[in-house]
Amino acid sequence: MWVDSHCHLQLAEAEPADSLDRAVQAGVEWVVVPGVDAQSSEAARRLAQADPRVRWAAGLHPHDATRWTAQADQITELAATADAVGEIGLDFYRSLSPRGLQIDVFKAQIEIAQAARLPIIVHCRDAFSSVFEILEETEAGPSTVLHCWTAGPRWTKRFRDLGVTFSYAGPLAFENGDTIRRGAAEAPPERTMVETDTPLLTPPPFRDEENQPSRVVLVGQALAGVWGMDVAEVARHTTGAAERIFGG
Ligand SMILES: [Zn+2]
Repeated sequence: MWVDSHCHLQLAEAEPADSLDRAVQAGVEWVVVPGVDAQSSEAARRLAQADPRVRWAAGLHPHDATRWTAQADQITELAATADAVGEIGLDFYRSLSPRGLQIDVFKAQIEIAQAARLPIIVHCRDAFSSVFEILEETEAGPSTVLHCWTAGPRWTKRFRDLGVTFSYAGPLAFENGDTIRRGAAEAPPERTMVETDTPLLTPPPFRDEENQPSRVVLVGQALAGVWGMDVAEVARHTTGAAERIFGG
């Protein structure tokens, strides 16, 4: 059985209950639905209340760091009953919010997670060295999930030594995903999960369709190729890692 460690069912066009039924048919046991702001975190909470197959997280995405002052209270309150804080992190690729502010808001949300003893789900795009420094400085390593991990071997090895858990998404299976696959070869199976990042990043051969949790199996198959491991063994490792992070 599989776990989709990161899917925004509340942001997809498909009906969440339908997606979950299809996922179960594909062998997915449960999923994690992170928020990207207060409203979507609240929606994630409602999904989890309605369906035992859903774990959820509350957090403000780095793209929207400028909204922190307005949303901090609500996100803090939501986090108190969530399974994790996320997704949070740094995005210096699009830099939709100023970098300094992204860093402050990331650190503030790590503090909330640590006070509540919750794992964090981290978005890291073109910001490897800054995310590394912050995780090191806050000692957040072992309760950290690096979602949609795309680094090559060098950064993967450095982050591995912090004790983090990696989560791979569709890009691992993309034709141009060689660097990611070389990085994944360095990821320890017992600290690696798989995800879809629904509704985005649909793995081949369904690239032009909206993504859904059932497709996490394709990511698992890609990982099996990288590791030279049976698909069933990959499912066992990645589901075990998800149970340790989010609680079985
Ligand atoms: Zn996401």
